[in-house]
Amino acid sequence: MSTFSRQLLAWHAQHGRHDLPWQHDRTAYRVWVSEIMLQQTQVATVIPYFDKFIQGFPDISSLANAAEDEVLHLWTGLGYYARARNLHKAAKTIHSEYQGVFPRKFDEVLALPGIGRSTAGAILAQAYGERHVILDGNVKRVLTRQFAIEGWPGNKTIENQLWQLADELTPKQELVNYTQAIMDLGATVCGRKAHCSDCPVQSSCQAFKLERVNDFPYSKPRKALPVRETDMLVLVNSDKHILLEKRPPSGIWGGLWSLPEKPGNVALAEWCDKQLGWKVQESQQLDSLRHTFSHYHLDITPILVQANTPVNAVMEANNRLWYNTQQPEKLGLPAPVLKILKQINEGMEHG
Ligand code: SF4
Repeated sequence: MSTFSRQLLAWHAQHGRHDLPWQHDRTAYRVWVSEIMLQQTQVATVIPYFDKFIQGFPDISSLANAAEDEVLHLWTGLGYYARARNLHKAAKTIHSEYQGVFPRKFDEVLALPGIGRSTAGAILAQAYGERHVILDGNVKRVLTRQFAIEGWPGNKTIENQLWQLADELTPKQELVNYTQAIMDLGATVCGRKAHCSDCPVQSSCQAFKLERVNDFPYSKPRKALPVRETDMLVLVNSDKHILLEKRPPSGIWGGLWSLPEKPGNVALAEWCDKQLGWKVQESQQLDSLRHTFSHYHLDITPILVQANTPVNAVMEANNRLWYNTQQPEKLGLPAPVLKILKQINEGMEHG
């Protein structure tokens, strides 16, 4: 075993995290759910979502048999909803093709929706103690600093070099602990702000020697994000329920329930008349809010429209429903829509 692995394992035994919910009753299913949640999100945020998710779907079959709305509901607020949809799809595949048992072969795991090379390795290493190499964001940070790797780690050549180094460092035994240890090191001691004085592998760290820790990893070459604008309609009926529409299954917020959006070149009165048969006399523009995706900023202007007739003219259909903010249904909602609905609900309670 390399000095690096030995030092890391000794550190982990003493200082690593041993009480994360997925470390106990460490089934492949629980490790898988945790790995998917952790892909874009920090441990502290993930824990309550993980607990709720596992309570709702204690095993692969219950997840496979759930409605997509229920799955997205338990993901609401965690963001990157494609992760939840893929998790759901993969559970269905495991249910139908592997009799509900999480596959054990690397290629079979890798073929499941939403699972890349590092995640497949992390699941198999942690669930079964098999030797697989991992290279998630935390590991990339540790390695780019250890070896003072110049250039952005998302670049293919650099990424290949990192895989090679990660492979060389991965020991043949103690895979469960090693995998957790290197992820923990990147998440805690060698985080965005490095705490080198607490680091078990400081003696081999090139960036530390060069006093250039903050130079690594290189950031992605930046492009300014474009800004898009949209008007979201908050249509309130005479029961004070709000109209929601289900978004198409793929794309931004795929499968979530959102507020109807009106194209900028269509007048509000015309839109409401054509879409809902509402004669709008009054509307109120609310404060805009910005939501940032990885590729663009979305500036959202909510427009409140209240029906002045006892309307239920818009019949509920597969992709539309009246949402009762007082007794909300279990649906997946995009974070900014949830925010708008909360504001409206508070306004209704006070007025
Ligand atoms: Fe990270 Fe500092 Fe340790 Fe190097 S010495 S691995 S930069 S914490």
